[in-house]
Amino acid sequence: MADLIDGKALAAEVTGKVSQHAADLIASGTTPGLAVVIVGEDPASQVYVASKSKRAKECGFHSVQHTLAEETSEDELVALVEALNADPAIHGILVQLPLPGHIDSGTIIQTIAPEKDVDGFHFINVGKLGTGELDTAFVPCTPAGAMLMLERVRGRDLSGLNAVVVGRSNIVGKPMANLLLAANATVTIAHSRTADLPALARTADILVAAVGRPEMIKGDWVKPGATVIDVGINRVPAPERGEGKSRLVGDVAFDEAAAIAGAITPVPGGVGPMTIAMLMANTLVSACRAAGRQPPA
Ligand code: NDP
Repeated sequence: MADLIDGKALAAEVTGKVSQHAADLIASGTTPGLAVVIVGEDPASQVYVASKSKRAKECGFHSVQHTLAEETSEDELVALVEALNADPAIHGILVQLPLPGHIDSGTIIQTIAPEKDVDGFHFINVGKLGTGELDTAFVPCTPAGAMLMLERVRGRDLSGLNAVVVGRSNIVGKPMANLLLAANATVTIAHSRTADLPALARTADILVAAVGRPEMIKGDWVKPGATVIDVGINRVPAPERGEGKSRLVGDVAFDEAAAIAGAITPVPGGVGPMTIAMLMANTLVSACRAAGRQPPA
C-alpha cells in the first residue's frame, strides 16, 4: 500500500512557517498585505475567496476582500486592480477566476503588477518560470504546492526520473511541467489528444493528474512504486451518503492506484490545502521583496 502524502499536515506546516516569518516582518515594520477580488456570486468561488481571506488573517496579514457585483464592468475592475497595484499596503493581488463572461480575464491578469501577481499568471511570471528564473518569479500556487509534496517523497533533485503530467492548462499542467523540468525530471505532458495514455502513464516515476475527470486514471496505469500527485477535484453523486449527497474525488482511482504506487496524494486533503498555503507563502515572499529583505527559503 502506498504512503499517503498528507496535504493538510504539510499545508499547516507551511502556513505555520509563513506566520512566524510574517511576525518577524511585521516587527520590522512591514505587514504582508493580500487583496482578494471576487466578481459575481459563483458559490464555489465565494467559498475559495472566503478561505483565502481567512487564512491570510490567520497568518497575521493585512487581508482585504473586494466583493464586486456581477455587472461590474471590465473598466471598473481594471481601475480597482490599478488602485491595488499602487497601494503600498498590498503585496499580493488575487482576482478569483472565472470572471463573468463580459470581462476578459487575460486583460485583468495582465493589469496586475507582476511583482504583486501572487497567483503567478502574469506573462512576466510565466516567462520567468519558463526560463528557469525561479528566484524572482511567482509560481502558480497549485503546482508549487504539488512540488513541495513531491519534494517530501523524492527530494528536490529529480534527476533520472520520468515525469508524466496529464493536463496542459496554463494554471496547473504547464507550470507543473516547467517545475518538474527545473528539478531535472524528464518530462512528458499528456492531454486529450495523446495516444495510448495508459501506456505513457505506466512509464512515469512521477505521475501528475490535472485533468478534471473523476477517477479517470486507473490502477493499472500506474508504474509500481511511482509517486502519484492527484490535482483533480471533482464532485460526484454519493447516494450512499443519502439522497442528493455528493463527495469529492480526484482524477485518479485512489484505491486501485494506492495498491500499486509508492506514494500518493489523497482527495480531499491532498493538493487542495497546499494551494492556499502556497498563496500565503507567495504573499510573504512579495512583502519581503518590497521590504528589501531576503525571502525565506
Ligand atoms: P482544464 O480543464 O483547464 O484542463 C484539463 C486538461 O486535461 C486539458 O489539458 C485537457 O486536454 C486534459 N484532458 C481532458 N480530458 C482528457 C482526457 N480524456 N485524456 C487526457 N487529457 C485530458 O483543468 P485545470 O488544469 O484547471 O484543472 C484540472 C483539475 O485540477 C480539475 O479537476 C480542477 O478542479 C483541479 N484543480 C485543483 C486545484 C487545487 O487547488 N487542488 C486548483 C486548480 C485546479 P486538452 O488541453 O487537450 O483539452
